[in-house]
Amino acid sequence: MMLRLYNTLSRSIEEFVPLEPGKAGMYCCGPTVYNYAHIGNLRTYVFEDILRRTLRFNGFTPFHVMNITDVGHLESDADEGEDKMEKGARREGLDVWQLARKYEQAWLDDMARLNIERPEVICRATEHVQDMIELVERLLERGYAYAANDAIYFDTSKFSDYAKLARLDLRGLQAGAGGRVQLTGEKRHPNDFALWFTNRPRHIMQWESPWGRGYPGWHIECSAMSMKYLGPTFDIHCGGVDHIPVHHTNEIAQSEGATGQPFVRYWLHGEWLLIGSEKMSKSTENFLTLASLAEKGFDPLAYRYLCLQAHYRSELRFTLDALEAAQNGLRRVYSASPERETLNDPSAFADARAEVLAALNDDLNVPQVVGLLNRYGSHRLWLEFDHVLGLDIAGRTAPDRGELPAEVAALIERRNAARRERNWAESDRLRDELIAMGYEVGDGPTGTTVRKRPV
Ligand code: AMP
Ligand code: ZN
Repeated sequence: MMLRLYNTLSRSIEEFVPLEPGKAGMYCCGPTVYNYAHIGNLRTYVFEDILRRTLRFNGFTPFHVMNITDVGHLESDADEGEDKMEKGARREGLDVWQLARKYEQAWLDDMARLNIERPEVICRATEHVQDMIELVERLLERGYAYAANDAIYFDTSKFSDYAKLARLDLRGLQAGAGGRVQLTGEKRHPNDFALWFTNRPRHIMQWESPWGRGYPGWHIECSAMSMKYLGPTFDIHCGGVDHIPVHHTNEIAQSEGATGQPFVRYWLHGEWLLIGSEKMSKSTENFLTLASLAEKGFDPLAYRYLCLQAHYRSELRFTLDALEAAQNGLRRVYSASPERETLNDPSAFADARAEVLAALNDDLNVPQVVGLLNRYGSHRLWLEFDHVLGLDIAGRTAPDRGELPAEVAALIERRNAARRERNWAESDRLRDELIAMGYEVGDGPTGTTVRKRPV
């Protein structure tokens, strides 16, 4: 069956055909690790996880790359203000490196609690500075960049396709009389942006470069790391809609300027999570974390289920009432009994499966998927599509611990303790022991889940 996705570049729904048959390369802009992720950020990562799982469900093997921004993201996306990392470090009395590791780990924990599959590559900006320097050198060689006193800038006047992703009206963006954009620093044109900052003695994180000590701009990290792991042209690039006019526009300019080849074939963007009528955002105080929802007694997967009830291209207005309704709905899904299976007839099951898959493959119409699954009320069908939905239905409906042999329950406890202490070697060893005893082992949000392997 054909998978169709909305491509922001063409503003239309297109059939997904990967560059290499059977594979799907994807890059998703990851977190800036100066604070906890808010549930708006997490909505975007849930959408990307659904996309990744849908690709696999359709027989494509995903190769998913996600970055960790631990340097260079200034307070405004357009090169102004302080580095978010340095500001965060001052707030918490940590050094920038400690801050980065603290929030990277917090983000990984949130991802695991939401049952988001780990991308094949998670890469830190600070570990790829040399790749970024080489990309800036190539842009200078090819005439797409110029050196000023405060930075090396990308020269947007040289890249004729600059407006293509966001369909920007560049005339409206002229600086000076009547224009909306102010020229800042030593830029030649208002849309030019910093590739590499120089002469910033007060900035803490600095690296040697051909242009003296300095640090990378935020946009260059995504071009450098995505092309490093996925090649000059790859299949899918995702992020939130806020990235269309600046960050992703700049990524295209840098990447295509440097290679002369198309950068990304399908651009997918997730809409915002709103609180009240505003975008949830870290810079304002309206943000909620997954931990704050857990403190109120909510299951992280209830938040995941809430996200699945809105299409990724629609705004979702968050309320605690809606979350409560999602939690109740999810409990009903978990309590559906396999003994009352409604789709025992194989051809009825196949028809229902095809109907649900058609909804999923229609630009990830997950709200319709969930609606159909609720209507059919078939445990088997829920299990089938839980490979995509990721609600841990198998784990949550498995026989409870009380029915497990004591030695198995003890191994589970020891494995949970090992994972809490991040002793992955011990956790893997205990998993292997459980497998050897005939169990399938999973990682649910509340810890290890097991099911007896069918014989
Ligand atoms: P950041 O950590 O700020 O770089 O953002 C990480 C991801 O979250 C990006 O893909 C953003 O587009 C996305 N994002 C930020 N705010 C929201 C929001 N309110 N709703 C949905 N996604 C968001
Ligand atoms: Zn990015």
